[in-house]
Amino acid sequence: MTKQGKVDEWGLLLHLPYMPTSSSKKPKFRRVVLKISGEALRNDKTGEAIDSSVLDRLAEELKSLQSIGTQVALVVGGGNIFRGLAGARANGTDRTTGDNMGMLSTVINGLALMDRLEKSGLEVRVMTAIPMDRIAEPFIQRRATRHLENGRIVIFVAGTGNPYCTTDYAAALRANEIGADAIFKATKVDGIYDKDPMKFKDAKRFTKISHADALHKRLGVMDAEAFSLCEANKMPIIVFSMADRGAMKKAVMGQSIGTLVA
Ligand code: UDP
Repeated sequence: MTKQGKVDEWGLLLHLPYMPTSSSKKPKFRRVVLKISGEALRNDKTGEAIDSSVLDRLAEELKSLQSIGTQVALVVGGGNIFRGLAGARANGTDRTTGDNMGMLSTVINGLALMDRLEKSGLEVRVMTAIPMDRIAEPFIQRRATRHLENGRIVIFVAGTGNPYCTTDYAAALRANEIGADAIFKATKVDGIYDKDPMKFKDAKRFTKISHADALHKRLGVMDAEAFSLCEANKMPIIVFSMADRGAMKKAVMGQSIGTLVA
């Protein structure tokens, strides 16, 4: 055994899984809120609402964050199943009813996540903004922070519990309520660009931008209400690609990934 790890019979250094030591660099973020949109859970090839491999990937990433001592709470969206506004436009569903349906969609996603994370060995609690005590615990701020301190992953579902809101707003709200150090927003692109990178080849990615500039340039990081809440409370947001393996751990260790809004 050397200082770096175990050596094999030929004296070659074996690659061991990351293990924090007292000399290791300390994580930059102690507690984070990870916002996952419903779309990020969808399987684009088959059209299935919940892609099993995405759940597995998430479990892997969350375990690696826990291994370095970072507490993680998740806010999950529901757009892969139902969005209130889209429902209202498509089939005339009353907006409040549609939003309630949207919030219930986040509960379905949250339960799928809970199941997979638990099966991978993580301890999980689902907390809902709409009381449904057979299925999940009610959201109580002090209880949520207690779960996190005890090493559990907390999944916040049912958004804010109010119609005319989004799960981005729920992420901003919960992050502030539980005293998170940052919001990690997993998306399909690897950060914030000056224009749509899917449409424009010369689109440039920001590595860092202030809340004020992002708002002024109308970069659409989150909806305006959610973004204002983060700006008013100086909540950093890191936008990164869901496909980027290990990105969250890198960010927690202070490496630059995606775009930092701060
Ligand atoms: N929603 C709501 N209140 C909330 C959060 C969500 O009414 O606090 C509803 C709204 O209809 C929204 C749907 O739930 O369209 C799904 O949430 P969202 O669109 O934010 O999910 P995502 O885009 O992240 O998948």
